[in-house]
Amino acid sequence: MRDFSEAPFLVIWETTQACDLACKHCRASAQPNRDAEELTTSEAKGLLRQVKRLGDPLMVFTGGDPLKRGDLFELLEYSVAIGLRTTVTPSATPLLTAGAVERIKDCGVARMAISIDGPDAQTHDDFRQVAGSFQTSIDALNAARASGLETQVNTTVTRGNMHRLGEIAALVAASGAKLWSVFFLVVTGRAQLEDDLTAEEYEQVFEFLYELSLTAPFDIKTTEAQHYRRYVAQRRKKDGFAGTSRRGEAPPAIARQAGINDGKGFVFVSHRGEIFPSGFLSISGGNVRDTELGHAYRTAPMFLSLRDSAQLEGKCGGCEYKNLCGGSRSRAYALTGDYLESDPRCVYIPVASLTGSSAM
Ligand code: SF4
Repeated sequence: MRDFSEAPFLVIWETTQACDLACKHCRASAQPNRDAEELTTSEAKGLLRQVKRLGDPLMVFTGGDPLKRGDLFELLEYSVAIGLRTTVTPSATPLLTAGAVERIKDCGVARMAISIDGPDAQTHDDFRQVAGSFQTSIDALNAARASGLETQVNTTVTRGNMHRLGEIAALVAASGAKLWSVFFLVVTGRAQLEDDLTAEEYEQVFEFLYELSLTAPFDIKTTEAQHYRRYVAQRRKKDGFAGTSRRGEAPPAIARQAGINDGKGFVFVSHRGEIFPSGFLSISGGNVRDTELGHAYRTAPMFLSLRDSAQLEGKCGGCEYKNLCGGSRSRAYALTGDYLESDPRCVYIPVASLTGSSAM
C-alpha cells in the first residue's frame, strides 16, 4: 500500500461553483452564476504550480461546470504544459459542444469525464433536472471518441437508479469509455437522506460491480465507497482468487485505490481556494491563497488525523480492513458529525468484535 503522508495521488480543483444544471444530489449546491470570490486566472495558475510541486498527482478540473470559466482552455493548456496529468469533468449543458470537446482534446487533456445517471433521457434528465442533458452526455462521449479523446463515465448511485446499473453499464461499454467511476451518495449539499442506499443495498451494488469487473471492457472504480475494497478482498479470498479480472489479476482500479481516503492520497481545493480532504468534507485545512497546498496537506491537524487509522473510532477503528478501507470519512461526518466515526453504511462486523479481541 502506498504512503500518502507526503503527497496526494489525486488533486481535485473545483474550478467554479457555477453550473447550468441543478442536479438533485449536487455536492456543491451549484447555481448558474460564478462566485466573485473564485480563484482568478493568475491564482489558478499559482495553484497548478503548487500541485506540480507535489510531484506527479493526477490533476482533476471539476465544478460546478468548468466550462462556465472563460479561461478554462487557457488553464487546461497551462496544466498540461507544466507537466500535470490533467483531466476535466464538464457538465452536459449546451456549452459542451463538439467544438468544446475538440478544444479540450487539443489542450492535451488525458481524459474527459462525463456523467450518466440513468440509462435513458427520462431517468437521467429527471436526476439532472434539465431536459436534453442525457443526449448532451451521449453526444459528448461520441464526439470524444471521434476525436480520440479518452473518456470515463461518472454515475452517482441512488435509490432511484440502483436497479438500472446494468443498463447504464451497457452504455458505458458502448461509449468506449476506459473507466466507470461509480459515486456513492454522501448526504451533503442537495443530496437527500432518502436517496441513499441502506448498508445492505451497498453490498448488493458491490456484488454487481465485482461480477461486472470480471468481464467488463472498462475499469471500475468507486468514490465514497471505500468498503468496496473490503468486499473485493473478501470475495477474492472466498473464491480462492479464482475470480480474476479479464487481465487475470486484481481489478486494476481497485488495486490503485488501496488505502486512499479523504485527506489520505486525496485533496480537494474549492473554487475559493479552501483546502478540503474531500469535496464532501468541507472542513478547511487552509487556503491556497496564503498556504502552500503541500504544506497544508502534510501538516494540518485534520489531515494528520485522517491519515492515522489508529485514530478511527467505533467499528472502523477495530476493523482489520481499516488500512485498506477505513470507511468513508465524508459519510461518517455527514451522518454522525464526527469524521473519525464509523461509516454508517457498512454491514461488516470486524473479527475483533466477534472474538472480543482488541489486538488490531
Ligand atoms: S467497518 Fe469500516 S473499515 Fe471495516 S470494512 Fe466497514 S467501513 Fe471499512
